[in-house]
Amino acid sequence: MDAPDPQTIRATVQAQRGAMDALFDQLRKDGLDEPGISRDPYGAGEQRAHATVTEAARALGLEIGHDDAANLYMTLPGRDRSAPVLVIGSHLDSVPHGGNFDGAAGVLAGLAVVASLQTLGLTPDRDIVVMGIRAEESVWFQVSYIGSRGSLGTLPGGALDVRRVDTGRTLTDHIAACGGNPEALRAGSRHFDPTHIYAYLELHIEQAPSLVEADLSVGICTGIPGNVRYPDAWIEGRQDHVGLPRQFRHDAAMAGAEFAMAMDALWADHDARDIPMACTFGRFHTDPAAHGLTIVPGAFHFSLDVRAYNESVLAALEDSMGGIIDGIEQRRAVRFHLGSRTSAAPARVDAAITAGLVTAAGRQSISMLQIGSPASHDAAAFGAEGVAIGMLFIRNENGSHNPNETMTTGDFLDGVQIALQWVVSTFL
Ligand SMILES: [Zn+2]
Repeated sequence: MDAPDPQTIRATVQAQRGAMDALFDQLRKDGLDEPGISRDPYGAGEQRAHATVTEAARALGLEIGHDDAANLYMTLPGRDRSAPVLVIGSHLDSVPHGGNFDGAAGVLAGLAVVASLQTLGLTPDRDIVVMGIRAEESVWFQVSYIGSRGSLGTLPGGALDVRRVDTGRTLTDHIAACGGNPEALRAGSRHFDPTHIYAYLELHIEQAPSLVEADLSVGICTGIPGNVRYPDAWIEGRQDHVGLPRQFRHDAAMAGAEFAMAMDALWADHDARDIPMACTFGRFHTDPAAHGLTIVPGAFHFSLDVRAYNESVLAALEDSMGGIIDGIEQRRAVRFHLGSRTSAAPARVDAAITAGLVTAAGRQSISMLQIGSPASHDAAAFGAEGVAIGMLFIRNENGSHNPNETMTTGDFLDGVQIALQWVVSTFL
């Protein structure tokens, strides 16, 4: 099949502007939860987003399917239906009171690519599967990549029994309520054999201001960090009277503060050596029911997420952390209880896909910045199973996971142009 020229590709993608604006608007209405939007995973918000996207896919005549984890598959059939497929996808859930674009942009980009192929009258050499992934945001179940790992049969043991932090209901319960089959997942079912995926492409808004600063609309991902997480850690000290001299105290809050400052110093040291990492205490508190103005806190609670792009950096960070904790326990006569630990491996992007996307951007005359992802993405779950992955980041002002995410349709369509150019150069 003859590939269309870059100008035709550009015009075809630009003609999707109205349809894409309408879809983003509908998703915003579906998820409205002032301030911002909430698409709670395996709940009403995510369900409405799935319904909206499904309707758009039906209108395009795509094949609609679901798996045991209730992920959504919208397939444009290719010429060889048994060839390993191209998956273009992202997640349709959001954090509570988040923005409209984190996740959804990647799913809509997939729809824009297949709609453009249809407009051009092109049938790809293999199926293109647009995937609406469930439950990527780990703030709800405190487990990462539930939908994508569910599709690959790689959910960690125990994941189906965790409870959503707001509803208190188990993941099993939530999946069943949304038409999935948690018992099949528990028995190890999977939708995808990773060898049957030729490539996985994800477009996502950037979650740092690098593209805004560089004045560029699109970035290409150089890597996705792995993480080590302790969702429910706490420090055991001893509750005491406010007048107790320092040397007699077992002050859990001061121990927590010292620990956080030591981890931040470790991060600053990595920054100075140009080794990217991040360290976040999302929860950091005494128990307000037990503690108050005149009480030395006997317990201090925190969550910790440490991330880096390299397995050995992550391992070294955990080692250092152990040393820091030992020191604080001795000096302050407290005990750390780190509780459950989860981890996800760093993901490497595929060199051939990256080169293909760079070439495609050149053909579309769109300049791209190379950036490491500061955040975790479903692409990493596919990468962990040996699938070749690539990611494009779209400029986004004001950060993500908040109501003020700002992605322009123009920037979004730049990303779609690159994706479509790559698809027609690779899969015709
Ligand atoms: Zn996201």
